[in-house]
Amino acid sequence: MDIILLGPPGAGKGTQAHRLEADRGMKQLSTGDMLRAAIKAGTPVGREAKAVMERGELVSDAIVSALIGEHLESATRGAIFDGYPRTQPQAEALELLLADRGRELAHVIELKVDEDALVERICGRFSCADCGALYHETAKPPEVAGTCDECGGHDFKKRPDDNEETVRNRMAEYRAKTAPILPFYERRGLVREVDGMGSVEAVAAAIDAILDS
Ligand code: AMP
Repeated sequence: MDIILLGPPGAGKGTQAHRLEADRGMKQLSTGDMLRAAIKAGTPVGREAKAVMERGELVSDAIVSALIGEHLESATRGAIFDGYPRTQPQAEALELLLADRGRELAHVIELKVDEDALVERICGRFSCADCGALYHETAKPPEVAGTCDECGGHDFKKRPDDNEETVRNRMAEYRAKTAPILPFYERRGLVREVDGMGSVEAVAAAIDAILDS
């Protein structure tokens, strides 16, 4: 089962995708993670994407759709598209990528959130540098300060684009380019709304109810 998690930055897409991977063997396909890996590896894609991401703007449709095309086969038990598609051309590219492989979208899960709360959510988040476990300074600090709950690691990192100015640009990009793709999926009857302001568990339960329906 292939699904899209759609919502503005900080809506909880990554958190829910990680949980779905653990619970259902699905695979998170996050173009943001792929781009960050490309930057770290110093590839040509990474070099092109770095400054764009730091400004909170969108990387080109061709680059991100190619990344998804490269990784799609690895999601044998269902893909969770996280942060992709973000524009109408990407939504159209995804249709073709899936159709070429005899796959189709089961659901587009829209995480509805209050944008004002998002800046605070995003600016407080950080992750384990070793295993990638996600934390938040006030909402979900590690149980023992300075030690990762999952792997015991002591190194943490923050995304360079998780600062207020860039976050506001990312929100503007979402409103201008990503929210307008919802009608494309509404016409196909694929959109399911979930209240993204609830607890992680409540959001997870709502998503499970959709996937099991
Ligand atoms: P994310 O991790 O999904 O919040 O993405 C971080 C940044 O990577 C975004 O602000 C964009 O600059 C870039 N990015 C990630 N996914 C896409 C996409 N599908 N299309 C264009 N840019 C993207």
